[in-house]
Amino acid sequence: MIPYGRQSISDEDIKAVEDVLRSDWLTQGPAVPRFEQALCDATGAQFAVAANSATSSLHAACLALGLGEGGLLWTSPNTFVASANCALYCGADVDFVDIDPVSRNMCVQALADKLAAADRLPDIVVPVAFSGRSAEMDALAKLANQYGFAVIEDASHAIGGSFMDAAIGCNDYADITIFSFHPVKIVTTAEGGAALTNSAELEARLRLYCSHGVTRDPDLRARTDDPDPWSYDQIALGYNYRMTDMQAALGASQMAQLPAFNRARAKLARRYDELLADLPVKCPLPDDNRHKSGWHLYVVELAQGIDRRKVFEVMRASGIGVNVHYQPVHTQPHYQALGFAEGDFPHAENYYAQAISLPLYATLTEAEQDQVVAALRGAIDG
Ligand SMILES: *Cc1c(COP(=O)(O)O)cnc(C)c1O
Repeated sequence: MIPYGRQSISDEDIKAVEDVLRSDWLTQGPAVPRFEQALCDATGAQFAVAANSATSSLHAACLALGLGEGGLLWTSPNTFVASANCALYCGADVDFVDIDPVSRNMCVQALADKLAAADRLPDIVVPVAFSGRSAEMDALAKLANQYGFAVIEDASHAIGGSFMDAAIGCNDYADITIFSFHPVKIVTTAEGGAALTNSAELEARLRLYCSHGVTRDPDLRARTDDPDPWSYDQIALGYNYRMTDMQAALGASQMAQLPAFNRARAKLARRYDELLADLPVKCPLPDDNRHKSGWHLYVVELAQGIDRRKVFEVMRASGIGVNVHYQPVHTQPHYQALGFAEGDFPHAENYYAQAISLPLYATLTEAEQDQVVAALRGAIDG
């Protein structure tokens, strides 16, 4: 089976994890700050806070921005459920902004229209850099200024990509950027995530919420008059969302390969564009002078009338691990129970109806890619 995504683990990666296993620290040692520094170096962000998943980072980011009961978060329906669930964890409400069918990202015009008509404004908006390509973050940041909401960019797909010649994660247009290091993503730590910010205050709050709400930082402590030397203060209700040193060592080693990973993925994406040119499919937008995708996913939309389920089944049966990203979050049973209905966000639903993700990962060979395209051609013709 050619999977839709998979990790690339080098001998150096294995050695880096082994070194941790032979060291004094399995967790909270020197590898986590090393990995965090590598994330800052790659993006230009001032601070990075590693966590045990992007889902945890999203939750901590919402808490750090003060989201709570009575709060409201808007995100794209074309995403993994975690981009929306983070608000529900905080006791806040969720709503969605439909996608631009061309970019498949949150449509900034739809966002502007929804804001202008809203009785209740969002506290946080979470644009998702779907497949590795940022939303129109400059226009979105203008709306954030005008309406006073915070921006968390869910860049789980997008490490190594750029927008307006600045690395995704630099936070020029977001308060916090989230990366995921799940094995199908561009860089892996097995499970893992990170929140990047340029605000020292947000960084301190992210660390607090990822580590039980407990601090020894004299600036944050409640008990300041000569506290006992062993003591710490719990000043908020936090969680254990920490990344281990084993994971961080893997991540730091992987970060050295990030440019090579992105180059390999971008090259394969361009090759898909060429190989698929005569098929009745809509390819993703190519890179342009505003956007360089991280190329986590390569999603094609089958022309109307082609049976997506049949294509999916035929390709799976011939050993091609195609997948589908994403069932619109508002159509999930949990969200339907909250009052959302089919038809609420038609662009996301129409996109989803014909979407299929083709295999894309750094070590996918051209021969394997040819096999994928031949199987797709056969499945469409058959
Ligand atoms: C993978 C993913 C997440 C969740 O990441 P985990 O590290 O698995 O928790 C969140 N948002 C998006 C868009 C993702 O693709």
